[in-house]
Amino acid sequence: MDCVFCKIISGEIPSRKVYEDDMMLAFYDIEPAAPVHVVMIPKAHIESVDALTEENIAYVTHIFSKVSEIAKSVGLKDGYRVVTNCGPDGGQTVFHIHFHLMGGKTLGKMA
Ligand code: AMP
Ligand code: ZN
Repeated sequence: MDCVFCKIISGEIPSRKVYEDDMMLAFYDIEPAAPVHVVMIPKAHIESVDALTEENIAYVTHIFSKVSEIAKSVGLKDGYRVVTNCGPDGGQTVFHIHFHLMGGKTLGKMA
């Protein structure tokens, strides 16, 4: 499958990993939009929030259960933002669901 995040999971494309287990992977964003910018992805090719169902939602639950631990491990001790873009109007560019974990400064208002 021609999916950059599936290729990161398989190791075909290198990444700077910050956390990994059997259900998810977290790595530094290649084009950071904040001083600390991590991308958290499930180890299943789910396109976006729009493709979530009762059957695959456990991946999202799992990712959110790890956010606090991952945030602390990358030094985000004064808060952070978690964002997911969905579809063209939402600004999604990689169609494998992911959650941006951003911080390292006081972030501005949402668009
Ligand atoms: P989005 O625009 O919400 O779909 O987010 C996709 C994110 O993936 C962007 O912030 C990109 O900078 C990031 N990205 C794309 N390719 C890579 C890569 N090979 N390694 C790390 N981050 C990437
Ligand atoms: Zn994928």
